Amino acid sequence: MMIDWKKVDTVLLDMDGTLLDLNFDNHFWKEFVPLKFAEKQGLSIEAAKQQLQPRFKSMEGKLEWYCLDYWSDVLELDIAGLKAEISGLIAVLPHVTEFLEKAHQSPKKVYLVTNAHRGSLGLKMEKTCLQAFFDGIISSHDLGYPKEQAEFWRLLQQRVPFEKQSALLIDDSLAVLNSARQFGIAHLISVSRPDTKQPKKEITDYPAIEDFRELMAGL
Ligand SMILES: [Mg+2]
Repeated sequence: MMIDWKKVDTVLLDMDGTLLDLNFDNHFWKEFVPLKFAEKQGLSIEAAKQQLQPRFKSMEGKLEWYCLDYWSDVLELDIAGLKAEISGLIAVLPHVTEFLEKAHQSPKKVYLVTNAHRGSLGLKMEKTCLQAFFDGIISSHDLGYPKEQAEFWRLLQQRVPFEKQSALLIDDSLAVLNSARQFGIAHLISVSRPDTKQPKKEITDYPAIEDFRELMAGL
């Protein structure tokens, strides 16, 4: 069994790539934003992609990377508006809803902890109606640090009291799992299929689920 549920009383869940199909975000940043940037700047799509790629890369793991306002400013595009334009692509990953129903009915506390900006978080909750399953929703923008930094977890613990020993984090980002491990969160699970349009990832550092059915037993 992947997890002994008796040892867990707090479930911390990432959003993009864990509960929601990362295909939306991948398509948005890798195709749709370059397209709109190319149109705005009078570039070819290829040239736009070449300009944007290093700029995205340099911001990875920083809070600004997840900030719609930041990208709206530097790219001179209405990023929130563009997200809304293709919001039809926002999708819940397979078996997530069953899992959330079961977790919500259990005595365990269930929190959404995300690096997503309040703007995209709002759009995604509106599209997926998952909000009701959580005891709380925490965006790293509220705390001032991304999940990749230990400070995030310290501040999270002040906001929603939990014991490190009995907390479980499920997150598709290895950098985030590493910072949570460093902080001392005892139970860590990764996701090997965050984007349904991409092949399964080989994950060796953490136990990984392909979908949430693997965690239903004993919950
Ligand atoms: Mg994620």
